Amino acid sequence: MKKYISLGVNCPHCNESLMDMNHQIHNYPSIKVNIETARAKGIIWLCSIYDCYDHENNIELREDEEVRFFCPHCSQSLMLETICNQCKAKMAGFVIKAGGKIDFCSRKGCKNHYVLFENLADEIRNFYKEYGSSE
Ligand SMILES: [Zn+2]
Ligand SMILES: [Zn+2]
Repeated sequence: MKKYISLGVNCPHCNESLMDMNHQIHNYPSIKVNIETARAKGIIWLCSIYDCYDHENNIELREDEEVRFFCPHCSQSLMLETICNQCKAKMAGFVIKAGGKIDFCSRKGCKNHYVLFENLADEIRNFYKEYGSSE
């Protein structure tokens, strides 16, 4: 059976959790953030599983559209100055609770992202502690 790592993330500004326990995707709490497009404002729930790009949103997102991300707690922008090296859209970023950060491209359909774990070993160790190893 494949094992998944679910990442818990915080806002880089107010450090509040962005996890939504009441809205699960693939049986894990999702990452809930406010979004804004050229036409509307809404909410997106991102799958918290490492390397899964599934998401749900309550406004229409068009393919290849750039989306702006905001913290639902402090309303500050989660957009970074970094530009995606694949599609030239702006990157957005979260802080990983276990240490480190994740930057991801704000364009729908672009899967470019960088994950920097401060301590990947700990993250994996905690994961096995929590879900057990079954090899
Ligand atoms: Zn915040
Ligand atoms: Zn991109």
